[in-house]
Amino acid sequence: MTVAGSVRAVTGAGAEVEIEAGAVQELRDSLRGPLLMPGNAAYDDARKVWNAMIDKHPALIVQCEGASDVARAVSFARERDLLVAVRGGGHSISGKSVCEGGMMIDMSQFNSVHVDPRAKTARVDGGCLEGHIDRESTPFGLVTTAGVVSHTGAAGLTLGGGFGRVCRHFGMACDNVRRVDIVTADGTLRRASVDEHPDLYWALKGGGGNFGVVIDFEFELHEMNPTVIAGDIVWPGDQARQVLEFYGEHGNSLPDELNLNIALVATPQGEKRVSVEAVWSGDAARAEEALAPLREVGKPIADTVAPVPYAQFQTRHDNANRHGIYSYMKSSFVNELSSGLIDEVLALHRSDGVYWIYFMQAGGAVSRIGPQDTAFPHRSAHSNMMVISESHEQKDRTADIAAVRSAWARLEPHTVGFYVNLMEADDGRTRANYGVNYERLVKVKNRYDPGNLFRLNANIKPTA
Ligand code: FAD
Repeated sequence: MTVAGSVRAVTGAGAEVEIEAGAVQELRDSLRGPLLMPGNAAYDDARKVWNAMIDKHPALIVQCEGASDVARAVSFARERDLLVAVRGGGHSISGKSVCEGGMMIDMSQFNSVHVDPRAKTARVDGGCLEGHIDRESTPFGLVTTAGVVSHTGAAGLTLGGGFGRVCRHFGMACDNVRRVDIVTADGTLRRASVDEHPDLYWALKGGGGNFGVVIDFEFELHEMNPTVIAGDIVWPGDQARQVLEFYGEHGNSLPDELNLNIALVATPQGEKRVSVEAVWSGDAARAEEALAPLREVGKPIADTVAPVPYAQFQTRHDNANRHGIYSYMKSSFVNELSSGLIDEVLALHRSDGVYWIYFMQAGGAVSRIGPQDTAFPHRSAHSNMMVISESHEQKDRTADIAAVRSAWARLEPHTVGFYVNLMEADDGRTRANYGVNYERLVKVKNRYDPGNLFRLNANIKPTA
C-alpha cells in the first residue's frame, strides 16, 4: 500500500511534527505486521481500548507481529521523538495504551503461549491476555498468578505487579517472572533475568511500562488442582461491619491458599449487600476447615462456594467487564482495616449502585518478598481498595464521577501508596509511591530510556 502524503504527529513533549511520506512508506515496507493510519479500515478498531471513556487518535499504529517490528517501530519513534503508547490487552483504565497524535505500538496480535510441563514454565508473548495463560497451563495441572478478568493483558498487569486469585498462594504475577525479552528505547532486543541485565530484571517487576516493549516473558508455573473450591458468600448490608471486621482482623492470618475479595454492592432493587468471593486453591480436603471461620460471621444469605474449574472461574467477571464499558475508579492500598476506615466504608456504601467499593486481598506469599527485592514496594498491604463506577451505556457521567471523587476524599486518608496499574499520579506522588525504590528505578531508566520515550505510565523521570 502506498503512503499518500506526509503525516502530522505529536512528540513526547507535545510539539507537532510532520513526517515525510517517504519515511512512513519505508517504515510500512519494513514491517511484517500492518501500519495503520486514520482512514485505514482497521484503524478505528485498533485505537479502541477497553474503557470507552477513552477516545484518542494516534497518528500511526504499528501492529507488531514480532520483535523486529517492535525494534523498527521503537527506533522510528525515538529518531523523531514521537509520543509513544504501548498496548497489550488495552485495559489501562486511564487509557495510557493509546495516544493522541503519537505512535501506538500495538502488541495485541502477538499472543502465543508455550507451556513446558517438564520445566514448569510458560513462555508468554507481550500481547497475551491473562486467559491465554490460564487456558494453556491449567490442562497440565499448572498455573501462575493471573488477574481476575481473563481479557486483561498479561504484560501490563505483570509489569505493574499483578494481583489475582492465587497471588497469596504463589506470589504476584511479577514474582513469577523468570526472564523477560524486551526492546529498549535504543531499539535493542535485550534479555533481563537474574544473570543478564539484573538491574532491568528487578525494575520490570513493578516498574510498569517505563523501560521498553516486552516481547515475551518466561513465567514460573506451579502445580495446582485445576478444580478450586470457589464462589460467593453474601450478607445483607447491615452485616457489612462484621464482615469487614473479620477481614481486617483475620485477613492476614488466613491460609495462603485462601483468597478473599470483598465487594460492597447494591441489588437492582436497591438493597445493600456485602459479597465475599472466596477461592480455596489448596488441598480440597482442607477447604471446609479453611472456610469455616468466614461462614461463621453473621448470617450469610447466600453461599455458592463449591468445586469449580479454576480456568472457568477466572472468566466469571469477563462479561460484566466487557470491552466498551465506561469506567471510572479510584484506588489505593490499605495496610489495615482500622475502625475509622470501616466507619467510612459503611457510611459510603450506596444502595443506588452509583459506585461499588471493592477490596482485593494481598498478604500471604505477596508479603513474604521484601519491599526492595522487586520494584513493586507495597509488600505490607492488606488489600487494594477501590471505588468503581461503571456503565455499559453512554450517558453523562459527571455526577457519577463526582460521587466517586467525593467518596475517595474520605477514604484516601486511610490509604498508603497506590497501585500503578490502576491509578495515575503526578511526579511527586509517583516518587513517594515507589519510596526507597525510586532512585534505583531512576538509574535503570537513565540506562535504558534516557530520553523518556516510554512516558505514558506511572512515569519514572530520567535524570541522565
Ligand atoms: P494496556 O492498556 O494494553 O497497557 C497498559 C500499560 O502497560 C501500557 O500503558 C504500557 O505501559 C504497559 N504495557 C502493556 N503491554 C506492554 C508490553 N508488551 N510491553 C511493555 N509495556 C506494556 N490488575 C491486577 O493486578 N489484578 C487484576 O485482577 C486486575 N483486574 C483488572 C480487571 C479489569 C477489567 C481491568 C480494566 C483492569 C484490571 N487490573 C488488574 C489492572 C490491570 O493490571 C491494568 O489495567 C494493566 O495495565 C492492564 O494491562 P493491559 O496490557 O491490558 O493494558
